[in-house]
Amino acid sequence: MKKIGFIGLGIMGKPMSLNLLKAGYELVVFDIFSGSMEEVVAAGAEAGNSPKDVASRTDIIITMLPNSPEVKEVILGENGIIEGAREGSIVVDMSSIAPLVSRELAEDLAKKQVRMLDAPVSGGEPKAIEGTLSIMVGGSQSDFDECLPIFKVVGASAVLCGDIGAGNVTKLANQIIVAGNIAAMSEALVLATKSGVDPDKVYQAIRGGLAGSTVLDAKAPLVMDRKFDPGFRIKLHIKDLGNVMETGHEVGVPLPITASIMEMMQALKVDGLGEADHGALIKYFEKLSNIEVKR
Ligand code: NAD
Repeated sequence: MKKIGFIGLGIMGKPMSLNLLKAGYELVVFDIFSGSMEEVVAAGAEAGNSPKDVASRTDIIITMLPNSPEVKEVILGENGIIEGAREGSIVVDMSSIAPLVSRELAEDLAKKQVRMLDAPVSGGEPKAIEGTLSIMVGGSQSDFDECLPIFKVVGASAVLCGDIGAGNVTKLANQIIVAGNIAAMSEALVLATKSGVDPDKVYQAIRGGLAGSTVLDAKAPLVMDRKFDPGFRIKLHIKDLGNVMETGHEVGVPLPITASIMEMMQALKVDGLGEADHGALIKYFEKLSNIEVKR
């Protein structure tokens, strides 16, 4: 069994690394926040003291970090993965970052005979805990095949979408659809509530029809219970929509829907909700209509 490095033990990385330990993999882990390392080390992982140290002790190095700057720092920065990685090892970046950055990082790693896959995920914390994430991968077929046993532990599906960067392009498409769904759900439930119809009845009536979706099933109950703990933080969704806009404009794709939802999320962040779950997008619509959606 390959020895795995895992860097970034936050909402997603912690349960993913715990599942790899449960599946019998040996793990060396690192996070700048020592609190999250303690729990994974208590479950049987070895502690690394830098990305370089983790890379020097493992064959496959997974990163699960917030965004492009952190992934760049962890791979290329001082005491970074590139300084310690063994020839022939694979870096699997499972963070959601700009596709262009994935391509640049893969080129830098290739100079040291280190391979790379970009493999962002969808499914959020509950599916990270269950080990049933959807994984979208960019890179070569042979590197994908080598990492497939690992993907099978943390995910329910893994699809090779194309060359390096294709995983993150797919993730951006995913994030447009998720943001749009939450916005439409919010507008709809506010309309129902202000019209005097119980939003839970609306949800129960429509969830099996064409308007039903995984997003609706995940977010409508939480919203109606007024549960806005993350989950997926608004500030991270803003980060993804920023990467959507940057990538779209680079390739010549205007993004009118994404642009307006981005500004709604920015307004919520200004209101101090950057750390709240993205289901809190409904608060933007509630404020417009001066009403609260609840059971
Ligand atoms: P998080 O903020 O909870 O975790 C990130 C972790 O990275 C933190 O523990 C932080 O201390 C660590 N970190 C930051 N900089 C570091 C560095 N330089 N060296 C080492 N560790 C560092 O974020 P998360 O929710 O786990 O998300 C991680 C990635 O997964 C993001 O790209 C996010 O967009 C994506 N994602 C999240 C969800 C979700 O529902 N939370 C779902 C799908 C994808």
